[in-house]
Amino acid sequence: MPHDDFPPASVWLVGAGPGDPELLTRKAARLIAAADVIFYDALVGPAVLNLAAPQAERVSVGKRSGRHSKDQATIDALIVAAALAGQRVVRLKGGDPAIFGRTAEEVAACRAASVPVRICPGITAASAAAAAAGTALTLRGAARRLTFVTAHARAGEPLDLDWVGLAAEDATLAVYMGRAAAATVAQQLIAAGRSADTPVTVVVNASLPGERIIRGKLSSLAFLVETIGDRDPAMLLIGEAVRAPARGAMQQLFAAVQA
Ligand code: SAH
Repeated sequence: MPHDDFPPASVWLVGAGPGDPELLTRKAARLIAAADVIFYDALVGPAVLNLAAPQAERVSVGKRSGRHSKDQATIDALIVAAALAGQRVVRLKGGDPAIFGRTAEEVAACRAASVPVRICPGITAASAAAAAAGTALTLRGAARRLTFVTAHARAGEPLDLDWVGLAAEDATLAVYMGRAAAATVAQQLIAAGRSADTPVTVVVNASLPGERIIRGKLSSLAFLVETIGDRDPAMLLIGEAVRAPARGAMQQLFAAVQA
């Protein structure tokens, strides 16, 4: 083995990226191939799981909104138990483990049991969504900050976000788990002072075969997400940076360069 960073009885939390297996890091691919057991989320697709060794055990601990198949404490316990049994454990998560990935809990559970645990970062959905849409997430002079925010509220609780902070004109918002709350997000941002004309790009299944890009304005966000299926992951990008390039803008640019 070229590396000794994955001994038996240890855990790696691995970012699987947004779906396209080519968007995995080489490190992630190596760790997946070396694992004895892989605990994976619902958003991790077969193309990534196929990198596992044939004898590796694959355990779905998939969480989809509204249908949590295993609760977090159970997942923590499974990971720790597998490591204590001497296995090389990969906990495979969509995107980057550090972003809305319950990584803190899993790291704490491993440390509490004295199980060595490390993290392999991944390409987060916001990056994949911007790339798919052909836009940046920041824009010199106009979009100076980028906020990753989740619009997933705990069951029965209202969505309690810092709407005034999020409404700042120079902020790009990358809203994770935002489909169900899209109407509320738009309404609250506009109420907090964000322009109703703010550009919005919704990317469904970024980097996956069913990729879809839907563009509009903040005022139409609720309508834009209506056709998205329940099972399809969707990223809401809001702000001046994601404005669609004006028709003919590239042609003008080429003409100017050539002149
Ligand atoms: N750790 C992950 C995010 C987990 S939260 C990351 O860094 O990307 C899950 C949410 O991420 C989904 O509800 C959706 O909003 C977003 N998401 C994940 N994969 C996506 C994809 N391929 N396309 C669009 N959005 C995606």
